[in-house]
Amino acid sequence: MKILIADDEAVSRRLLERTLAGLGHEVTAVGDGLAALAALMSPEGPRIAILDWMMPGATGLEVCRLVRNRPAPYVYILLLTARDRREDVLTGLDAGADDFLTKPFDALELRARLRSGERIVDLQEGLVRAREALREQAIHDSLTGLWNRGMILEQLGHELHRAEREERPLAVAMADLDHFKRVNDEHGHAAGDAVLREAAERIRSTVRDCDFAGRYGGEEFLLVLPGCDGATAALVAERVRRRVADAPVQTGERLIPVTVSVGLASSRPRAARLRPEALIQAADEALYRAKTDGRNRVAAAPEAIDPEPAPPEPASPDGPPLPEER
Ligand code: GH3
Ligand code: MG
Ligand code: MG
Repeated sequence: MKILIADDEAVSRRLLERTLAGLGHEVTAVGDGLAALAALMSPEGPRIAILDWMMPGATGLEVCRLVRNRPAPYVYILLLTARDRREDVLTGLDAGADDFLTKPFDALELRARLRSGERIVDLQEGLVRAREALREQAIHDSLTGLWNRGMILEQLGHELHRAEREERPLAVAMADLDHFKRVNDEHGHAAGDAVLREAAERIRSTVRDCDFAGRYGGEEFLLVLPGCDGATAALVAERVRRRVADAPVQTGERLIPVTVSVGLASSRPRAARLRPEALIQAADEALYRAKTDGRNRVAAAPEAIDPEPAPPEPASPDGPPLPEER
């Protein structure tokens, strides 16, 4: 475990350093509060700190307070002090210390206290990992690893706002695998899943890093293409279509052909207040045409989508608005 020792008394610092190194820890030793802060603020810094109470630069208490005021990762702090009066303990706890060690320290006691520190640090790291895993699960589709429906819609809303602010166009593409039900019927659900995964990967790897690809429904994918006008989006969609259809998907011994139909809709560069639903609906209608025209093709909404008229302003408390001049 990485441990920081901050103590301005060289003899006591070296003694601690030797003891901790002897216990197998990776020790950083500093002689003042500012150096302690710098070490603790670094992202890969020590997760346990033994801080002397009185130090130049910043006292152990001040370091404690500053470390507690920043977001995770948690640092387990042992205050090293000759003081053991009750009010000192309370002040230390108040500042955010986890435990105390009185000088001169006893090696066995130090070891025992460090063990509880390590337990807390391990617990906290486990919690952070679990929270991150939950967050990943909440925003990704578990089969394909793409953004899930909720997240891709959130990103579309976000990107529409940005497009409006920056007066840039934006396009969406709805891509639906062709006759996918037959894949399940002829090869079974597991093979169907493998085809879905591979198609998703082909789609994801075809779009730019700044584009968003999500699983919108069963075998339907929604692509959000910021900065793309209708013509550029048509090129992207055609690339996606070709990449998916390029080669059959191999699963076990089988080679399963796969194709996709894509419906496109794009917004005008100055489409203020355009609703995501309007774009999606237009892309859906285009997709429907791609299907009825024979599948394995791209169809685009006839023209860029305009926002719906803004709702009327609420009535002013000063009475009805003046009639417009003729
Ligand atoms: P079309 O070309 O008109 O889109 O025909 P289709 O067969 O692809 O469309 P349809 O909507 O009739 O069928 C979609 C199929 O996708 C039905 C459903 O069982 C299958 N499906 C949806 N989600 C999954 C999934 O997670 N795994 C598997 N294996 N199949 C899925
Ligand atoms: Mg389909
Ligand atoms: Mg479908």
